[in-house]
Amino acid sequence: MGQLDGKVAIVTGGSRGIGEGIARRLAAEGAAVALTYHGSNETAELVAKEITGSGGRAVALRVDSGDRAAVREGVRQVVDRFGRLDILVNNAGVAVVAPIGDLPDEVYDRSVAVNLTGVFTASQEALRHLGAGGRIITIGSVNADRVHFGGGSVYALTKAGIAGFTRALAREVGPRGITVNTVQPGPVDTAMNPADGPFAGFTRPHIAVDRYGSPAEVASLVAYLAGPESSYVTGATLNADGGYSA
Ligand code: NDP
Repeated sequence: MGQLDGKVAIVTGGSRGIGEGIARRLAAEGAAVALTYHGSNETAELVAKEITGSGGRAVALRVDSGDRAAVREGVRQVVDRFGRLDILVNNAGVAVVAPIGDLPDEVYDRSVAVNLTGVFTASQEALRHLGAGGRIITIGSVNADRVHFGGGSVYALTKAGIAGFTRALAREVGPRGITVNTVQPGPVDTAMNPADGPFAGFTRPHIAVDRYGSPAEVASLVAYLAGPESSYVTGATLNADGGYSA
């Protein structure tokens, strides 16, 4: 028996990387999982198929997190399909690294639309359906607190916004028995930040455990926050960063 048996979860950006790891973990704990994607249709369908093939319940939905109407509709579709919603994991995100003077307005707008407005809107819509025991978990970044490189202004702006949003929302929905938390990964080996990629050289010296993390190592913290044992943890910002910010 899994700790999330009977629960329904949405994982945004569940087609690849950290979101894929979270979707697989929550499904392994017993939740029915709707994983959203934007561009990676085949990968998303494959993840959902593999979860279903191993006895879980999953569906892949194309929902652009940067499109408010699509986000609202996506949440409604999940509730229509599974009959309820218990857990929202806001994971989808984009990372842009560029000097502030070179950052086109469209790139700024898209970063804010996906990383902040998408999180706000999905949470707003999910809260129409979440009941007591509900969970909102948002994937921020240690770059909200510490940035060891130049060019991270818009990314850090969005990730710091998530931590503030989490604290405020936790106060608002606490009386309803719903918790709201932020998980801040450090460097995790994904397409966004490969362990042998361009950021590794200046990132690696700051990681206390001297290695990149894996999506599964972030997913385990998310699984804790999604489950019943974290019922007194809310408004928190928890790092899974290998000591990057230590
Ligand atoms: P990846 O680039 O590997 O994966 C990003 C995921 O988000 C994909 O599933 C992608 O789907 C989805 N996504 C991107 N844009 C959209 C959109 N507009 N609508 C719906 N889905 C979208 O990134 P990571 O797995 O590394 O990152 C996941 C989260 O973790 C992000 O919020 C990121 O900021 C955060 N993070 C990552 C760190 C790292 O070192 N990797 C460190 C700290 C935080 P698709 O392919 O279909 O577009």
